Parts: sequence; structure tokens; C-alpha cells
Amino acid sequence: MVIKNKTSRRGRQMPATAPSVRRSFPTSMAGKAAPTQALAPRQQQQQHQAPRPQQHQPARPQQAMSRPPHQHGPRPQHSSAPAHYTHQHAQPRERRAEVTTPVAKKATTPKHDTLRIIVLGGNEEVGRNCTLFEYGTDIVVVDMGLQFPEEDMPGIDYIINDFTYLQDKIDRVRGVIITHGHYDHIGGIPHLMERIGNPVLYTGVLTAGIIKKRQQEHTSAPPLKIQTINEKSRLKFGNSFVVEFFHVNHNIPDSYGLVVKTPVGNVVHTGDFKFDHNPVNEKTMDIGRLNQIAADGVRILMADSTNAERPGHQLSENQVGTELEEIFRQVKGRMIVGTFASNLSRVQLLISLAEKYGRKVLVKGRSLTTNLEISHELGFMKFKPNTLVDIVQAKHVPDNKLTVICTGAQGEKNAVLMRLANGDDRELQLKKGDTIIFSSSVIPGNERTVQNLMDGLYRHGANVIHYKMMDIHAGGHARQEDLKDVVRLLKPEYYMPIEGNHFMLRINANAMVEAKLLSDKNVIVSDNGQVIEATKDSVQLTKEMVPAEYIFVDGLGVGDVSEVVLRDRRQLAGDGMLVVIVTVRRKTGELVQNPDLISRGFVHMKESKRLVEETRQQVKKILKDRDPKSPAYEDYLKNKIRDQIGEFVWRKTKRRPMILPVLIEV
Ligand SMILES: [Zn+2]
Repeated sequence: MVIKNKTSRRGRQMPATAPSVRRSFPTSMAGKAAPTQALAPRQQQQQHQAPRPQQHQPARPQQAMSRPPHQHGPRPQHSSAPAHYTHQHAQPRERRAEVTTPVAKKATTPKHDTLRIIVLGGNEEVGRNCTLFEYGTDIVVVDMGLQFPEEDMPGIDYIINDFTYLQDKIDRVRGVIITHGHYDHIGGIPHLMERIGNPVLYTGVLTAGIIKKRQQEHTSAPPLKIQTINEKSRLKFGNSFVVEFFHVNHNIPDSYGLVVKTPVGNVVHTGDFKFDHNPVNEKTMDIGRLNQIAADGVRILMADSTNAERPGHQLSENQVGTELEEIFRQVKGRMIVGTFASNLSRVQLLISLAEKYGRKVLVKGRSLTTNLEISHELGFMKFKPNTLVDIVQAKHVPDNKLTVICTGAQGEKNAVLMRLANGDDRELQLKKGDTIIFSSSVIPGNERTVQNLMDGLYRHGANVIHYKMMDIHAGGHARQEDLKDVVRLLKPEYYMPIEGNHFMLRINANAMVEAKLLSDKNVIVSDNGQVIEATKDSVQLTKEMVPAEYIFVDGLGVGDVSEVVLRDRRQLAGDGMLVVIVTVRRKTGELVQNPDLISRGFVHMKESKRLVEETRQQVKKILKDRDPKSPAYEDYLKNKIRDQIGEFVWRKTKRRPMILPVLIEV
């Protein structure tokens, strides 16, 4: 996987701007509230939040579809959540009656002279890439990725795209195209294909292999209809689209860019790419082909922004080879190289170097082994039959003849390098004289864990070579000068940065304007869900937003963990909880026994006797002021305990545990 979550520390889960709008469900679903979990993914977890109103009404007037444009300023962390709830309070249930308005119908009617491009994910983050091309009644989906969770999303496995917009347009989806086999482009497939009617999926041979393998782990997902393509393929989708492909370099083989031919001109989508003039085990990008694409005219160029902030040209993978080779030449003992399981070009490079220097290779880590097997089987990875050894054979290989390639160079908790550092890998133990090589730079945010990892490795007496000592990391993405080269080659009329945080898209766009390759009017920076409309006469970034929420995957649940659940998890993780159990006489509301307090993760009760006693007195005080005849007495009392005890505890401890009042009537 390419997980370069460089920046995304902005707590953006629920944009403060009109969240309910993004929630609106298509008109055709009106009245069919939540026919499946898929359609109303977040309705079910509200029960335990009794005082709050149900969060998402299944249908609202569709005019809400065009919402005010995003505010591009920084969004304060978590601030969106309260706004969200407030907003929901303002949307009473009665509104349901208004659903079937003519406006609503209009919004889902296809436009027959307009190309609509909607990036559902990947334009405000590095991850969960997905773009829709819509013309008339034809829709083509490009990529269906996942995004790894941020630190403030406890328990979340990953995040996928919101397909609400497609819900009433399933019969218009003509196909899905996947550009390459990284998780941020394929990760949503097992969860989302069924929701759009499991259309045919078109992709390269290697990507198809990786997708099929992953699909096996999701037994409930229906079998996929995959058709493989190559750079010569030409696909027709409905009456509107013809899609052609071109080979791109990246850090996984079999990656493609697309030319989407539409009635209003050609749109080029680069996918993830870099210019590599000397790639490992594959050919370079075909400049002649790019010239040919340019000759046909490029109306809009959508280009990878992941490394757009980095000046200059991207290193060639073979330049990395030169530096790694130096290490191979010098190291005397065992070599253990940590890398990304998704960076198959690097793995190929390491295996080729091992062969050159007479070393055997032991591959460790499940994802790495799987990717290697698939790509070798499909002919994308080349090595001699006896180069790879298993752990039993490895024990008989002299240290100076063994290279171990493994996962975990980012300090991932359960990956091989961390196990080696902790000395709890069953198969392999570190020893003095080993050399550990970090063959990837540290992703911002992972520095601390990587430092811990290094501590562990040095304690075993190992030598560590990491990227600061030697540049052994070439990214898989075009840098600024590469992007300018692509623009010079393709000469697009409009330029639309994709695949990156907002700031990366801006830097990408600004670089083109500064280089006078495009004018300010001809660059488009869109947010996730924002609709771009192109006709024969104009290309416009509209103010229309379609739903592009984070859909959280947690265990077997897809979309059933909402921001509300996450907020609870964060609160529990932050300050724990305090359960207040109050037993009262039903008729009089009188307290029957001393209130019970239970702390989990808040304070150690035995050591906080005074606080416990004071809190108990406080609860008693609240109960004195009672009116048991009031019909909402129970809720009233619980809210009062929650608010006042919360406030009291805050005053005493400056902590905000979750207060959980339990009322027992006898
Ligand atoms: Zn990629």
C-alpha cells in the first residue's frame, strides 16, 4: 500500500459546512428508509445516545444537493461534531413529509450535454481515491480506494468512499476502472462493488490478481466480474465514453493512466505516476504516446499531486539501486531490509541486487509474501528459482549470504521489524553484526514509533542504515518538475490536480500558473464531492456538492460507526468514564440507598475516596430537587446528573470523563 498520510491531521470527519446536506438521500429512496445497511449506514448506532435525536433522516428535499462552497480555511479539530449535532436538532422528524418535491426529481435527471466529473475521495487526503465521470445516463467509476485512519479515530480499520450519490443511479454505472493495485485505489472494492450492482471491473493483469486475492478475504462479497486491460485496450461505455489507457511508471508494475474520450473533449487521468527514465524491470512511460494523446486534444488533465510539493524531478528507482548496491557491497553480515509491502519495484530491486551479490533472500511479512507471489506468478517479478529461501533453509545460509526483506519500516506495531526489535519473532532473532536497512523514508507522524523501533534494533547490537544516512527512498509520484513536463507534453486546456491533501492540490496548481503553463482561470481545485461540469463551451467548478463522507470500516461493520461513536471512543480514551447508579422509589422519587459510583479509566476509586464521597454528596443534592410527577422525569434527572456531575468532576479534577447515569426505580 502506498500510505503516505503526510499531513492529514485535521480532524475533518464531519465538515462543519452543512453536514446534513451531504447526508441527503436520493429522492427515489424516499419512504424506503434504510432498505439495507448500505443505504443508511449510520442510522443504527444511535440507541445508546438516548437524549440525542435520530441523526440522519433518510430523505430530505433534494435541493439541498447544492450546498454552499466549502470554506477552505483550516477546520479546527473536532469542532465539527457539535455543529453537526446542533444542526440535527434543527431538523425535526416532521420534515419527512416534504420529501417528494419537483426540485428533488430535477436533481437526479441526467444532463445530456454536460460532462460531470466528481472526485468522491482523494482530493482532501492521500487515500480513498475515487472519481466519477458522468455524461447523460452513463457513469464510469475510476478507482475505489481506502484510507487508513488517523490517530483520532480509535478502533477504525480504514475509511472508504461514500456512494450515496450513486444509489439511485446504479443502472447508469457502465463500469469500474482501477488504475493500479495499491490499497488507496482498490481497498473499497469488497465493500462497494455490490452497492453499485457489481458492474464489470476493468484493470491490469497484476492489479486484477491483487484484487482477486483480497476479495478471498471477504467471503460475503459477491464474485467480481473482472476484465483485464492493457495499454492497447479501448473500452466503450454507453454512448458517452471511450476510454483508452497508457502505461505509467509508479512503484508497482502494471499501472495505467486513462484517456476518457467524451462528447465535450478528452479528459486525461494520470492515476499515480512518476517519470522514471530508468525503471526497474519495466519500460519507461511512452513519450510518443503522450504526444499522440496531446495531438488529439486534452480538454482537462487530472494529475497526481502526492509529491507536488517537492521541487525537482523524482529519483529513478535505479538511482536508488546505485545507493543500495553500495550497501550490498559493504555489508559483511546479514542484511535485513524493511520496506513497504506495496512497493514491488523496490522489492524487485532488492532481489536483483541480492542475486548479483550471491545472497539468498528470505521474505517475511504476510502482505509482502502475498504480493510477491501474485506478481511473480503473473510475470511481473523476475528472479531465479533458487533465490528465495524459507526460514528453514535460511538457517543454513551463511550470514554474509543472506538478505531478509520484510515489512515494518514505519514502526507498524505487528510488522516484522517491530517483532525483531522486541525480540518476539518466533522465526528470526537479531544478533550482533546484523545490518538493518530502512528502505523507505519515515512518513510524517510516524517519527516517534520509528525512533522506538530504532532503539530496539540498536539494543540488539545491530547496525542501522536509515534514509537520513543514505537516500534510499525514491517516491512513486511525480514531483513538481515532472508535473510541469506532463503539462508541457499534453498541453491541456484545463488542469485539475487530484490525489492529495488540499494544500498539495493548491501547490500543484500554483506551480503550473507560476510557470506560465496555464492561467489562473484554467486550473481547477475541487473538494471531495464537488461537481465539475464541462460542456462544449465551458468548464466550471460548480457549487454543487454530492455526499462524500468518510465511511468507516470497523471489523465487519461498514458505515455503522459514525462520528458520534468515534466521539465517545475519544472521550473514553481521553478521560474514561464514571457510572452513577441511583436507586429511587418510583412513587416519590426518594433516594433508596447511597448512590453508587463506578470508574473506568477515570480515577482509581480506592485512591480517590474523598472525590468519590464528594461526588456522591453532589448526586444526593441533585436528587433533593425533584419532581417525580413530571412525565420526562427520568430523562430530566439523567441529564441533570450528566451535566452537574460532569461540571463538578471537571472543577475538581480538570478531567471530562463520560458520565453515564443509571436510574433504577423500585
Ligand atoms: Zn499508488
